[in-house]
Amino acid sequence: CGMVAIVGRPNVGKSTLLNQLLGQKVSITSRKPQTTRHRIMGIHTDGDSQVVFIDTPGLHMEEKRAINRLMNRAASSSIADVCMVIFVVDGMHWTADDEMVLNKLRRGADERKTVLAVNKVDHIKDKEALFPYLQELGQKFPFDEIVPISAKSGTNVGKLLSLARQCLPESVHFFP
Ligand code: GDP
Repeated sequence: CGMVAIVGRPNVGKSTLLNQLLGQKVSITSRKPQTTRHRIMGIHTDGDSQVVFIDTPGLHMEEKRAINRLMNRAASSSIADVCMVIFVVDGMHWTADDEMVLNKLRRGADERKTVLAVNKVDHIKDKEALFPYLQELGQKFPFDEIVPISAKSGTNVGKLLSLARQCLPESVHFFP
């Protein structure tokens, strides 16, 4: 289908990642959570192939507020149409909410390629300590790939792009 959803709790760097993937600033980034209130899409074009990335609103565990319910619905419906989901977590601040988001989304994500992007690795001083942590996550959750990234500086973002390209069906290549 050529569509990829970027999901995760607020402030993990989803919009920054979308901008980096597209190489241009189309989404909004902010220190303040809840800036992305609707789905924001961007198309990455490379030759005759196109990948559509959808930056979803951050997922919220607390659903008492109407805005949170609305954002959760928008994020969940975004993943219904895609062939690959990039779960973004903050490598510095893994929280119980991340785990709940993963469990919540996993239900709908079985047939899709699921990639865990562990973001903000530029902030992590002890890079060696990251490996056992990534291994532990891999055992806990059955991701197809786990990729440590820096959405800000672009580290490993190309790896996510090539994983997205791998799920392009032949029909998306318009001019064979
Ligand atoms: P979103 O709510 O998940 O879309 O998060 P944003 O993309 O708006 O980013 C939230 C904050 O994290 C902003 O202050 C970003 O500059 C910061 N941020 C995002 N990616 C990175 C990264 O790779 N490294 C660092 N150090 N900060 C990042």
